[in-house]
Amino acid sequence: MIKKIIIYPNPILKKVARPIINFDDELKQLITDMIATMFDAPGAGLAAPQIGVARQLVIINTSKKKEDADHKAIALINPQIYAGEGSEIDTEGCLSVIDYTAEVERFKKIRVKALDASGKEIDFAAEDFFARAIQHECDHLRGKLFIDRISPLKRSLYKRRLKKMLAAENKKQVGDK
Ligand SMILES: [Zn+2]
Repeated sequence: MIKKIIIYPNPILKKVARPIINFDDELKQLITDMIATMFDAPGAGLAAPQIGVARQLVIINTSKKKEDADHKAIALINPQIYAGEGSEIDTEGCLSVIDYTAEVERFKKIRVKALDASGKEIDFAAEDFFARAIQHECDHLRGKLFIDRISPLKRSLYKRRLKKMLAAENKKQVGDK
């Protein structure tokens, strides 16, 4: 089932996610729903807090292109980035941050430990776009968004613009009634 994605500045996005301990059918269903939601958007990844579940689970789109129909994705449970090297600046966006992208500095290469859907430990290296997506999604689990990694000035300009956008939208909805 496709879930509603929670949008900034909703305070739910600031919550720190708790580890997953039960590898049951409920978790399998959550993973299925998150994959469907991510491809519907479409996005490069999705973290459980973005659909209002404060748990340490992220989905990463591993299709060659974001729009590809092959729909490959991996689920990382209780992920930990335990090593990082190099740095790279690139443009980032987020399904929870509407109408905004910014340059963000991230590690170029990382090593990740996580559990898979069956609770088995996985340990792997990632680089470039794949590494960026994992770093972005893992930030969500700590209640952090990419706009927390840009300059305070840029962030306040975006906040002001967002307020106006949301106000205009509300006016429109009231007018429609
Ligand atoms: Zn995001």
